[in-house]
Amino acid sequence: MEDDLAPWSEPQLRQIGEWIGARNVGDKVCSLCDVGRLVVATTPANLLVGTPNGDNINGANYPCIALVCNHCGHMVLINAIVAGLQPPDAERDGNRARNSGSSASS
Ligand SMILES: [Zn+2]
Repeated sequence: MEDDLAPWSEPQLRQIGEWIGARNVGDKVCSLCDVGRLVVATTPANLLVGTPNGDNINGANYPCIALVCNHCGHMVLINAIVAGLQPPDAERDGNRARNSGSSASS
């Protein structure tokens, strides 16, 4: 569980910087306040996947790199799988398996 809260490692932060730099999406002025700059959050983020009524689907999530405005806190999320920081869902060890409960047949 502690690993889930671990910050990005130095090599991962370097990879994030290179990926963002190659796409010219980093170090931008915030689109919300037009004052601050978007900086990479030091820890990974997860966007939970839900149904239209708000239920989470068995712990499913999109792993994300969060860019945070250093003035107003506005956040922009980059999919960490697309950025190459996390393996595709089928290869991850899986919040789904850990959080799925006992309703599945087994
Ligand atoms: Zn801002």
